[in-house]
Amino acid sequence: MTVRTPVDLDHLATTPLDPRVLEVMLPVLRDHHGNPASPHASGWAAAALVERAREHVAACAGAEPSEIIFTSGATESINLALKGLADMSSGPGHIVTTVLEHSSVLRTIESLADRGWDITSVPCDRDGIIDPAEVAAALKPDTRLVSLNAVQNEIGTVQPWRDIASVCQERGVPLHLDAAQAVGKIPLHATDDGLALMSFSSHKMYGPKGAGALFVRRRDPRMTLRRQIDGGGQERGLRSGTLNVAGIVGMGEACRLAMEEREQRADHLRNLADQFLAAITAGVPDVSLNGCARRRLPGSLHCLFPGVRADRLIRALPKLSLSAGAACGSGDPAPSAVLLAIGLDAEDARSCLRICLGKDTTPEDVTYAAGSLVDAVRSLQVNW
Ligand SMILES: *Cc1c(COP(=O)(O)O)cnc(C)c1O
Repeated sequence: MTVRTPVDLDHLATTPLDPRVLEVMLPVLRDHHGNPASPHASGWAAAALVERAREHVAACAGAEPSEIIFTSGATESINLALKGLADMSSGPGHIVTTVLEHSSVLRTIESLADRGWDITSVPCDRDGIIDPAEVAAALKPDTRLVSLNAVQNEIGTVQPWRDIASVCQERGVPLHLDAAQAVGKIPLHATDDGLALMSFSSHKMYGPKGAGALFVRRRDPRMTLRRQIDGGGQERGLRSGTLNVAGIVGMGEACRLAMEEREQRADHLRNLADQFLAAITAGVPDVSLNGCARRRLPGSLHCLFPGVRADRLIRALPKLSLSAGAACGSGDPAPSAVLLAIGLDAEDARSCLRICLGKDTTPEDVTYAAGSLVDAVRSLQVNW
């Protein structure tokens, strides 16, 4: 069997559009141009498509349809959640976050810090896990929000967000979960898990880019946010602008498929990741795995190849789509803050690869990719 290259080992950066999702999007783009806000048949048809998608997205997230606000992606959802909550406060307060956050959370929180908000960033352990007791210890009387990611986007660790949500609920502090890498991939139920707000994205789960959602809890307690985009009042006034109907329909279908296939995909991904790790461990005995072996996103591996610069490895492997970390520019990037947070030194942090397989990765892809990776590591270790 021939392997199609490049072999995609970068499914944490984005995922390919599922052809079945494209199939439901095409008629929307081709035949249904209606504006869901229009008071006539073509508008109603578009609105019905959006509401059906909202049901799928809500079911996948463990929410009611009325708790789902469509956005352009997780970055926008995060901005709406954090700034929208901060704007409801009479003055600056305190926010608890962690050292493991994605830049969309980090930069949004920095902009709140510029407005006078007090920020505490909770450390993680060497496995890249946040201890709920550390979150509890960081809470202050004026803490207005805790923001945490569910699955870390570099090292793939799965955080104990249910326990952290219990801590937050006891103290009456809302929890925002950045679930861009979690929804549709691991068991998660926004309502039952005690979340106040949750951001997620379509393109991380085989849906189209440019679509995302924010879960805004409506009961026990009801969350209120200030809109960040002014205009026609779409999405309960929280997110104005004509809806991206095709993108939303695609996200709905991606969510529906993820619900149906989640366990099967996870089993497949775990098996392939085991195969990958076994192959590289056999070929490069001093490789080590970062993050947590147990609490990890199925299909994700984060590996340290001692003495080999990750940027050289990536350049030596043009037939693999590989990344050293969060999607960033080329050149000589600063070592990842997440890797420093789990205790790596700067040199080791530059010798790591983030590997994430996808639902359509095959055992042949893994054999090819692991084999070429081993060869490249060996030749670079020799030529160091
Ligand atoms: C990808 C990602 C985001 C941003 O999502 P977009 O939809 O691309 O804006 C936020 N948080 C995490 C953890 C991510 O992996």
